[in-house]
Amino acid sequence: MRYQFKFRLYRRKFGRSLTTNHGNWDIREGIILRLTDETLRVGWGEIAPISWFGSETLEQALDFCRQLPAEITDEIIFSIPDELPACQFGFESAWEWRNRGNEENIITLNSSLLTPNSLFYSALLPAGEAALNQWETLWQQGYRTFKWKIGVDAIADELEIFESLIHTLPASTKLRLDANGGLSYEEANLWLWTCDNLKANAEIPLEIEFLEQPLPIEQFQEMLELSMSYKTAIALDESIATLGQLAACHQQGWRGIFVIKPGIVGSPSRLRKFCQQHKIDTVFSSVFETAIARLAALQLAAELSRNNRAVGFGIDHFFEQEETWLQCLWNDL
Ligand code: MG
Repeated sequence: MRYQFKFRLYRRKFGRSLTTNHGNWDIREGIILRLTDETLRVGWGEIAPISWFGSETLEQALDFCRQLPAEITDEIIFSIPDELPACQFGFESAWEWRNRGNEENIITLNSSLLTPNSLFYSALLPAGEAALNQWETLWQQGYRTFKWKIGVDAIADELEIFESLIHTLPASTKLRLDANGGLSYEEANLWLWTCDNLKANAEIPLEIEFLEQPLPIEQFQEMLELSMSYKTAIALDESIATLGQLAACHQQGWRGIFVIKPGIVGSPSRLRKFCQQHKIDTVFSSVFETAIARLAALQLAAELSRNNRAVGFGIDHFFEQEETWLQCLWNDL
C-alpha cells in the first residue's frame, strides 16, 4: 500500500508553565501528520518528542519528515530507526488510525476525549505549596488520583507540604509522588520511609500509590534495591522512556511499576507484543500531546493496562481551548 504523506509543525503554549525537576516548560512543539491511502482513507498521527526525557529532538523528527517522499509505503512506516521513537509512534498510529477505517470527524472524536471519565484519570497537581490550593477544584471535577511533583524544592519544605497535603486530601484518594530522578539516595530512603510509616500507622485514609523515578537513570541498581526494601511501590519513568530501555530494565529484574509514555516509547505494535508477553504492571502517561496522539495513546492504555491503575492523562487544565485550537490547525492542513 502507498500513502500520501503530509505534515505540519505545531506550537502551543501551556496555560501555565509546567515545573518539574527538569526545569520549566512553557511551549509544546510537535508535528501533526496525515496519511491518505489509495482508497482515500485518512489516518492522523502526531510526533510529540521530549528530547530531555530520552526521545529524539523535534529537529531530528522534522529532518526525518522532510527527507521522506510525498508518497510513502508500509516498509518505510515499519522500519523507522529506534533512534526516532516519537516518529515510530506518530507514523504507526496514523497507519493504525487509517487501518481501523475510522471515518469519524476528528473534532467529534476529540470532543469525547475532552470529557473523559475522570475517575480513571490521574490529575497532575502543581509543584510546591500550590498543590494545597489546587486539589479541591480537581476533586470537584471527579479526579480521585493525584500526582504531585517532588524533588523540586528542599526536601524539608516538601515533606512539610506533603504532611499538610495528606491530612487535607479526602479518604479514597490515591496520591502518586513523582521525583523525576531528582532525589539523592538518602532523600529517596527518607521519602519511602515516610510513606511506609504512614501506611503502618494507618492514620491516613488515603493511599500513597507509588513513588515515581526517585533516582537518576544511572542508579538503576539502587532503585532495584529500594524497591525490595520498602513496602511503598516504586515506578520507573525516565529509566524506561523507550522500548529498548524498558526491555533492558525488565531483563535486569525490575518487577515494579512501569510508567509508559506511548508518545515517545516507540513502535505501538512492538509495545503491545512486549506488554502481552511479560504481563508487566503499567501506568500509561501523557507527553502533553494534542488529542490526536492522546487518542492513540489511550487506545493502547485501554488494551494494555492491568491492575486498574489510573492513566496519567489528567492534564486538560494545562491547555486552554483545545478544541478550538485543533479546529484551527485542522482548517490549516
Ligand atoms: Mg514521571
